Amino acid sequence: MKNLADKKYPIYHFDFVWDQDDFKNNGTGYEKMFKEQPTEQELKDELERVKAQKVKKQIESGHPISKWNKAEYVSIGYDTWCSGWFDHMTYNKFESDIDALASFEEYVNRHEGNSNDCLMGAEDRWRWAVCHCDGCKQNNWTIINH
Ligand SMILES: [Zn+2]
Repeated sequence: MKNLADKKYPIYHFDFVWDQDDFKNNGTGYEKMFKEQPTEQELKDELERVKAQKVKKQIESGHPISKWNKAEYVSIGYDTWCSGWFDHMTYNKFESDIDALASFEEYVNRHEGNSNDCLMGAEDRWRWAVCHCDGCKQNNWTIINH
């Protein structure tokens, strides 16, 4: 089965760079899948949400942010799965783990060997494990850890 019916969702890359008194150009970035094409306002809201979260976390850890150098988003197109920190997620629904794994196989096959695509170790198929935690159920998404 090729899972050609799998929907491709809009995916954006978010990038943050800041200065602390004790460290310049600290940063973080991640990719996020949206159920629908987000508006510019929704993308800006995401930037503000994460900036606020970072400000709080940096104060709590005793390394407050002194200056924002970058808070940006860029569209990386549409795809069936979205990369996380050693996992991938999708809003696509599957009848079974076997169907989820088949969909992920198609995604990895498409990206494997492309030096621009970081698969976070997803090339190691023996690591794949479909997540069944409460968070996945509540958020109505499917995650494969690897
Ligand atoms: Zn989960």
